[in-house]
Amino acid sequence: MGNMDIQGVSFKSFGSYVNSDACPRSLEQEDKGKVACCDSFVSSQPEEGVLPLRILHLNDLHGATEPEDGLGGLAKTAQLIKEERQEAQGEVLTFNTGDLAEGTMVSYVTKGKVVTEAMASIGFDAVEPGNHDFAWGQATLSDMLTDIKAPVLNANITDVGGNNWGTPYQIKDFNGVKVGMIGLTVDNMSRYVEEEKLEGLQFRQCADTLREYLPMMKKEGADVLILLSHIGFEEDCELARQFPELDLIVGGHSHTALQEGHREGNTLIVQSGSKGQYVGEADLDIDLASKKVIQAQARLLPVTGDIPADPEVAKIVETYTEQAEKIGSQVMGQAEETLTYSHTEAAKVNQIYADSILEATGADIAVVGARNPRAHIGKGEVTFEDLFNALPHTEDVVVKIKCPGSLLKEELELRVQDGARGPATPAGFTYAYDPKLPSGNRVTDIRLSDGSPLELDKEYTVGTTLAMARKGKLKAASERELMGSPQEAFMDYFSQGGSWHNDPDARLRKL
Ligand SMILES: [Zn+2]
Repeated sequence: MGNMDIQGVSFKSFGSYVNSDACPRSLEQEDKGKVACCDSFVSSQPEEGVLPLRILHLNDLHGATEPEDGLGGLAKTAQLIKEERQEAQGEVLTFNTGDLAEGTMVSYVTKGKVVTEAMASIGFDAVEPGNHDFAWGQATLSDMLTDIKAPVLNANITDVGGNNWGTPYQIKDFNGVKVGMIGLTVDNMSRYVEEEKLEGLQFRQCADTLREYLPMMKKEGADVLILLSHIGFEEDCELARQFPELDLIVGGHSHTALQEGHREGNTLIVQSGSKGQYVGEADLDIDLASKKVIQAQARLLPVTGDIPADPEVAKIVETYTEQAEKIGSQVMGQAEETLTYSHTEAAKVNQIYADSILEATGADIAVVGARNPRAHIGKGEVTFEDLFNALPHTEDVVVKIKCPGSLLKEELELRVQDGARGPATPAGFTYAYDPKLPSGNRVTDIRLSDGSPLELDKEYTVGTTLAMARKGKLKAASERELMGSPQEAFMDYFSQGGSWHNDPDARLRKL
């Protein structure tokens, strides 16, 4: 398994993109996104003196290539966008507001290519990245954005020197009407993404960013203002209240399906759910004399099963799905019994996962969260796909920390409090907890594998994941060394024979 090319995490800084002047995705191709109206497709002509502007939008695609709950499927989503663009009466802009590729195995094993190539085929006028787009490191994101062949619109990510990471805003002239577009992503990015993956980047507060840029855009003659955001619906509403000059906010992040958009004062807010289940469509009528939006309507178009697949995107999906299936069907080992997982008690998948982190880090002991495992592993031949499904989260990082026994005990306590995340799975040590005891005093009998008790004032090296080490009690650990992908550690360990003969109840006991 060691030679399998699954995706690691890269922490390289963003290099060529930190300086917006040198950005290869600069927005100079004024005409690129202008798919002119195609008269043969329209029956009614636009009103005289009015510029119809159609906005087509997707957000939070999350690597989805197949329909979910009867809606979606990347090739059908593509087909619908292409159709709606052709049938539009006036000008069209097509946007994607982030969280593009993280979320499915086919996208993971192809480093997002199934999504980025489909997006290149669809053709976007601008892309505004989301938090999950940083999940696989900046180098991978850079490759992905290059492949999409669309301008990256973002105003609130800079390097430490304050240089814009993307193109902060763009103004397009349609028949003398200047349409200004600006992009914003979550300003609390480090809440979602490990700081190590954000090295060299700064995320500026959204409202402050608009306060700086909107006047500049207006000064340059922008008549209509569109914000592309990946910050969530509530936050979009708040910005609309603070900046009533925004005509349209194309949102994302909260996976909200706004069937007819939402009006906040003068601002229309749209968002199209997630996973390509809907294509968002907003039609703005702009008065050519006053250059103001006189009418705005929004709708979500469900991507239903009867929509034909776009042949080009269907081919892309098929090619990469075949590749993924080849990887996915590789046999990684055997299970002599069904290996179960659990979010609330000791279970075999959780145990193998914890042991794999111990093995990968070579630490004294290891501990992992209860909620990472997501599927049982069936008896018999176990494939890459089985293991991927058992541990589908591709964003975390293996980490070795150094901390006293007391800190570890506090973390274990934290996780068995009422309503907490569930008991952490130990490796190289055992413990018991009694949920009937008061919160904070439930964990007892923490013993190392030689039977000796954990010493509260002694320093141990602890293998865990960054998701666990960056918050809670373990945040206070004195050292932190990053060591690669937990999924890879899990797969390596499993394929080398694993540890599933041991009894998980023996090391994690609920009293
Ligand atoms: Zn998001």
